[in-house]
Amino acid sequence: MASIFSKIIAGEIPCYKIAEDGNYFAFLDINPVQKGHVLVVPKDEKDYIFDYAPEYYAGLWKFAQKIAAAQKAALPCKRIGVAVIGLEVPHAHIHLVPLVNEGDLDFSASKKLSLPKSEMEEIAQKIREKL
Ligand code: AMP
Repeated sequence: MASIFSKIIAGEIPCYKIAEDGNYFAFLDINPVQKGHVLVVPKDEKDYIFDYAPEYYAGLWKFAQKIAAAQKAALPCKRIGVAVIGLEVPHAHIHLVPLVNEGDLDFSASKKLSLPKSEMEEIAQKIREKL
C-alpha cells in the first residue's frame, strides 16, 4: 500500500507544497516542531533512507540543500537543522527545521505545533518565493 507521503506526492492528500522535481518532493510538516519545518521526500518510496542507490541518495540531499537555502532566506532563524527519523512514516524523508537555539530540534510530541491553515499557507508561500 502506498505511504501517506506517496499519496501526498500523487495529489490524493493535500499538503502545503514547497517544491518538486522529477525525483523529489518538499512540503510543510503538518505538525511542525518550529514554524517553517519542511519534509523532503524521495518520490521512489523506500522505508529506510540508506537503502537508496548512491546517486539517488545524493540527489535527495542536493534537493534538500536548495530548500534549506530558501527556508533560511524566508524565515527568522540562525540556520536550518536536519534530522532523519522515520519512526512514524515508513517512507524516507529529511526534516529541515529552522533553528534559533539548540533545543529547537526537539521532536517530543508535546513540542509539536498545530498552526492555522492561513499561517501554514503564508509560511509555504514565503519559502517558495525564495526558491
Ligand atoms: P518521522 O517518521 O518520525 O520522521 O515523522 C514523520 C513526520 O511526518 C512527523 O513530523 C509528522 O508530523 C509528519 N506528517 C505526518 N503526516 C503528515 C501529513 N499528512 N502532512 C505533513 N506532514 C505529515
